[in-house]
Amino acid sequence: MAGRHAVVIGGSMGGLTAARILIERFARVTVLDRDELPDAVRPRRGVPHAEHGHALLLGGKQKLEELFPGIGDELVTRGGVPFDPGHDLLMHQKGALRRRFRSGNQGVSLTRAFLEFTLRARIAALPGVEIRDRTAVYGLTGTPGRVSGVALANGETLPADLVVNASGRGGAGADGWLRSLGCPAPEVDVVKVGVGYTTRLFHRRLGERLAGDGLLLLMAGAEGDKRAASVFAVEGDRWMVTLGGWHHTHAPTDPAGFADFAAALPSKAVRDIVLRSEPVAGDIPKKFTFPAAKRRRFERLRTLPAGFVALGDALCSFNPLYGQGMTVAAQQAVALGHALDRAGDAGTGMARTYYASVAKIADFPWQMAAASDFAYPETTGPKPRGTHFLNWYTGRVLLASHVSVPVNRALMDVQQLLAPPTAVMRPGMAVRALLAARRSPSFGSTDSP
Ligand SMILES: Cc1cc2nc3c(=O)[nH]c(=O)nc-3n(C[C@H](O)[C@H](O)[C@H](O)COP(=O)(O)OP(=O)(O)OC[C@H]3O[C@@H](n4cnc5c(N)ncnc54)[C@H](O)[C@@H]3O)c2cc1C
Repeated sequence: MAGRHAVVIGGSMGGLTAARILIERFARVTVLDRDELPDAVRPRRGVPHAEHGHALLLGGKQKLEELFPGIGDELVTRGGVPFDPGHDLLMHQKGALRRRFRSGNQGVSLTRAFLEFTLRARIAALPGVEIRDRTAVYGLTGTPGRVSGVALANGETLPADLVVNASGRGGAGADGWLRSLGCPAPEVDVVKVGVGYTTRLFHRRLGERLAGDGLLLLMAGAEGDKRAASVFAVEGDRWMVTLGGWHHTHAPTDPAGFADFAAALPSKAVRDIVLRSEPVAGDIPKKFTFPAAKRRRFERLRTLPAGFVALGDALCSFNPLYGQGMTVAAQQAVALGHALDRAGDAGTGMARTYYASVAKIADFPWQMAAASDFAYPETTGPKPRGTHFLNWYTGRVLLASHVSVPVNRALMDVQQLLAPPTAVMRPGMAVRALLAARRSPSFGSTDSP
């Protein structure tokens, strides 16, 4: 046992995975959320992003399986759509579709609200865990060296040996809470991307597949084109269509404007679904804007308080277009378990180990996202070292993925956070990718040598 009581601020993806880890190491875990948590699969105020396309990467599904055995099958039994990412996920990038293949892996496509609801039911059933909704945290209690609990908006205080801040992107509030205790707050890296999502639901006919024979599609515009789109078959026989892009290339929310945006896209699959399918009654296009990716650099702080860590978007909020957030949050939760086991308590040493390890976990997805984001001159912020080369090389690998199954397979594993980036950088793979890139139908037109 690392302590008697752990408090988690936020009952969303980060908070739920953290609670699963903590209950094995604390006698009691209390999860606090300011929202009323619905007893059915429904959107809620505190997670407006949940109404937009959420891909659970295979790396994330794998971690969730470790934490919640049998969760993949449960999600499919309850209506999630199983798919092979090599075969059923169409990737339209750099002006062409990537080469399909049978990967032998199974992903599950679903809405974010459905995933969260299913995990919440699992957590609520664990002895020793209490989920308190309609309970907003207002601040931290303690001294400059130790956080000893949370102060609630209703005036109550809850003592804890460990407080995990999983309150999402708005977790910035916790910086003020730390400062008011006399603890330093971290530097924040901000990469401005100006991303916008507009999402609408359509009916999916029994067994219906996308043009090109997929169940899911991700589209990013060719060189200089800032548009992006996704179509996911999700539970309830629906297509979830998200349109938008980088740097204020956003799709309108009026149905006619949404359809016009889709009609002008270079993907037949997106056009067909939006222009030919029946919209779900009562569902209108909804918009979410994401101005900037943010990474709080706790690992750079010289002093860290005992009894406190940040996790999920409160620690690192990635550009959502790469679908990494939920996977990285689950990986962070696992890292928190390891750090607690190593330290044996929730002291400063544990926090130091945890932040060092989650910095490593975030480095690659952060760099991968930043490299693509900095392809647009409008992107501002700290550019990770090597971005220019990485961008050039990734461009070649993407071109190669149009024609080469081995390259596409390796790239898919890296993007799904199943394999390290070295999987596409080994000398043999690099030679194969550079040669294959020249055979892409887009070679020369989108990315001249
Ligand atoms: C438009 C969009 C699309 C995305 N698509 C994907 C995707 O395809 N794949 C993927 O893996 N990730 C995706 N993400 C990222 C993913 O949604 C986040 O990484 C994930 O939600 C992080 O979960 P979290 O628990 O850290 O934060 P959140 O989901 O933001 O949850 C924070 C929780 O804290 C609660 N809270 C906040 N303040 C308080 C307080 N003071 N007191 C009590 N409770 C509080 C809120 O009510 C909420 O429940 C996307 C994000 C966006 C914005």
